[in-house]
Amino acid sequence: MRKKEMEQKQFQAESKRLLDMMIHSIYTHKEIFLRELISNASDAIDKLYFRSLTDDRVGMNKSDFKICLAIDKEARTLTITDNGIGMTKDEMEEHLGTIANSGSLQFKKENSLSEDSQIIGQFGVGFYSAFMVAKRVTVKSLAFGETQAYQWQSEGAEGYTVDTCEKDSVGTEIILELLDDVEGDADGNGAENYSEFLDQYRIQSLVKRYSDYIRFPIVMDMTKSRKKEDSDEYEDYIETVTLNSMVPLWHKNKSEITEEEYNSFYKDKCGDYTDPLCHMHVRNEGTITYDALMYVPSHAPFNYYSKDYEKGLQLYANGVLIMERCEDLLPDYFSFVKGLVDSEDLSLNISREMLQHDAQLRLIGRSIERTIKNELQRMMKNDREKYEQFYHSFGLQLKYGIYQDYGMHKELLQDLLLFPSSHENGKLTSLKEYIDRMPEGQDKIYYATGESIARIELLPQTEQVKDKGYEILYFTENVDEFAIRMMQSYQDKAFQSVLDSKLDLESEEEKKALEEKQESSKDMLEAMQKALEGKVGSVKLSGRLKNHPVCLSNEGDLSMEMAKTLNAMPGAEGQQLQAQTVLEINPEHAIYKTLMELQKSDPEKLEEYAKLLYDQALLIAGMPIADPVAFSNRICKLM
Ligand code: ADP
Ligand code: MG
Repeated sequence: MRKKEMEQKQFQAESKRLLDMMIHSIYTHKEIFLRELISNASDAIDKLYFRSLTDDRVGMNKSDFKICLAIDKEARTLTITDNGIGMTKDEMEEHLGTIANSGSLQFKKENSLSEDSQIIGQFGVGFYSAFMVAKRVTVKSLAFGETQAYQWQSEGAEGYTVDTCEKDSVGTEIILELLDDVEGDADGNGAENYSEFLDQYRIQSLVKRYSDYIRFPIVMDMTKSRKKEDSDEYEDYIETVTLNSMVPLWHKNKSEITEEEYNSFYKDKCGDYTDPLCHMHVRNEGTITYDALMYVPSHAPFNYYSKDYEKGLQLYANGVLIMERCEDLLPDYFSFVKGLVDSEDLSLNISREMLQHDAQLRLIGRSIERTIKNELQRMMKNDREKYEQFYHSFGLQLKYGIYQDYGMHKELLQDLLLFPSSHENGKLTSLKEYIDRMPEGQDKIYYATGESIARIELLPQTEQVKDKGYEILYFTENVDEFAIRMMQSYQDKAFQSVLDSKLDLESEEEKKALEEKQESSKDMLEAMQKALEGKVGSVKLSGRLKNHPVCLSNEGDLSMEMAKTLNAMPGAEGQQLQAQTVLEINPEHAIYKTLMELQKSDPEKLEEYAKLLYDQALLIAGMPIADPVAFSNRICKLM
């Protein structure tokens, strides 16, 4: 007999690692493999069904489509069969042999995430879950439009084979040879039961639990028992049972859907292994009728803040999936939302191009936007902890949203913002809460920018504002100040940076005294300004410093932090922006006297001091100094 030579192909290296990770880190939920395989079968049927609407060659009616489950106890196999679109040889290799688009592992390496399960949650690895229960998986498939069927087979991480096979009807058959049960130690530790998946009632209940809403029948031949006619004896007979109710989850009554069903649906549809933060299930019956079922994930997908991330909701027209990812339904600032929209009012014949410009879609989009906003606002009000978890993942996107389109969406988004503040050691506060706490006499919303809360709290400029009893918002992200400048004000209160040179918090007397002192220090200040030509716009005496000798403040519209951000952007190398700054000197500090004396006795030294103080002020502000070597030499000289 000729031994058949078949080439054993390797999984892509990263697929292999993922497979290991998955089998070992989420095995407690091994039963979900069934949900995943049924979901794939349903997707494949969706594709062929959609095709059948425009292509007579399919030759099938909606009622012909089904998913069959079959148990063979002797062979220890569970088989899942569908009459969906099938896979060509290439598709098998591409979809089952590698993990499509998985930049995730690369990402993991770069960011050294420790939790394996975390990364698994980032994208769909549905098919691979079969290896959590099977020692060998065989996939036989005949793709629509092809004449030759192919068989893919794998025993897990080692690799897979692809070969031709016999299969007459279009669709896919997946045969799982279940793993052997493991007994475990005396206490049952380490025991694993795989035989449960050969139990028809167990399978029935798993389908009911995880896949009830699948819109095509999931059928199984079940062995049942009945009393023989005219006898007391029982006999077995086979009955083909439809296991699922087929009502799409979003068409069910909210009161009939459990939290678990909502969550399991999400995990299945959106390829996430962790429960979502919340769901939104709405039926709209205004100008346009639609059902929407949407979710906010509990964490940002690994590629969320990159251009690889694709937003969108699934779009169904009267229960038929017509678009996997409809971008027009979601504004960018809510791009994290996942889920679907199903509308009876959309026509199936609409081409994709037309859909994109369809007024109906825009209507739905606008209405959905309100739903999402209201849900987030409700969460902020009723479950602050959860909202902060949300904000931690997606708050940045909301801020970009404010900045985008020249602040067009600020009304919609401003009440969803949170910032750390000086009120309770950097705890997050909303703008509304800030306003509600404002003492009499405060008419601006104060903020300070810096790398971190700790850095900001050290800024000399914050002292005077805090002493007045005014709260300060801490802006630690680059986009913060840009977004807030776009907003300009909130509830008629203007935003004011405490790093600005014109804070104007002194009393009339204080101002007058300062002016006089300024006048009498004119020569010294001018000499310093000359020494710092091109670096600062002016050198002034400060009315707000307490313990610090100097600080840098801003003059004009462009702040130092903004200039830093803009200068760091790609393409900015050639045209570095410079913020207008003021070097403020504390007239109550000993250094003031020294400077005044030097101006008379040693003008050259005053110049050195000016440069030194300027660099110090830069350091305090968290800005880079131009020439660190010169700075340290100057210090040494003084020592
Ligand atoms: P996902 O479903 O998120 O795409 P899976 O790992 O579950 O990821 O499936 C990978 C791919 O394999 C699917 O996208 C599909 O192209 C293909 N596939 C899996 N099962 C089937 C099936 N029963 N019929 C046709 N194609 C399938
Ligand atoms: Mg899948």
